[in-house]
Amino acid sequence: MHIIEHIREMQIWSEDERRQGKRIVLVPTMGFLHEGHLSLVREGRKRGDRLIVSVFVNPKQFAPHEDYAAYPRDPERDRGLLRREGVDVLFHPAADEMYAERYETYVEVERMGSVLCGAFRPGHFRGVGTVVAKLFNIVRPHVAIFGLKDYQQLQIVRRMVQDLNFDVEVVGHPIVREKDGLAMSSRNAYLGKRERQAALCLYRALKKAESLVLEGQRSGERIIGAVRAELEKESLARVEYVCLCHPATLEQVEEIHDEALLALAVWIGKARLIDNVLLRA
Ligand code: AMP
Repeated sequence: MHIIEHIREMQIWSEDERRQGKRIVLVPTMGFLHEGHLSLVREGRKRGDRLIVSVFVNPKQFAPHEDYAAYPRDPERDRGLLRREGVDVLFHPAADEMYAERYETYVEVERMGSVLCGAFRPGHFRGVGTVVAKLFNIVRPHVAIFGLKDYQQLQIVRRMVQDLNFDVEVVGHPIVREKDGLAMSSRNAYLGKRERQAALCLYRALKKAESLVLEGQRSGERIIGAVRAELEKESLARVEYVCLCHPATLEQVEEIHDEALLALAVWIGKARLIDNVLLRA
């Protein structure tokens, strides 16, 4: 596995592979890898000839009061895991290489970036759009894989790719969960023992929504009410939002017709956890 830290070197490597007709796949991550990331990596392996994983904790997607400095990092362990998966290149740039002095160019997906998580984390998706656009220009992938865990992020990247004419196929990959249902996340490392138990309320709430829809419930208000009630049974949970929205546009829906996305964000201690499920009528 090559480890590349410099932008120019990454671009030259990719250009070379492209010239040889190789199909390049990129899996962008912030590291502290878990099985969720690795399932994206395995999906990536199937979709091209050369597999690149980027590990970059992107300062531009964290607000000043957020957890950029505390975000868990373990570069050595990440390296071992990626080597074992047969990754061709680990792209691991430093923050000051990605954002040199006087940096001032940003990519903002306006409406889609301002709803759901965007309403509570202003500027977050501007940071995400910017770093993904930069990674696309640096790695020049044919295919990029994103997890459905960050559903809004995936749809924002799709929108950006269409709007800015990036020649990249964006692939979404299902959420990987722990045995008990908790969606895997690097931020789960923040959870203490009691909090880890409490975090299960997110999965229970999503399951509750699924079962209501199965019983014929279609009302957004009813479903959201039941989901909130389920979350509020857990005393350690602080609900940030529960939303029912159109799966492609992320516009709020009042009723489920074909399909709707139920998305939620909940604080457990200092961990902000997100999860979602596609509900089918
Ligand atoms: P992160 O390192 O948290 O920025 O995540 C990097 C990529 O892995 C994103 O596309 C995430 O959606 C994806 N990802 C993170 N956790 C999971 C999970 N539990 N299941 C599937 N994909 C995930």
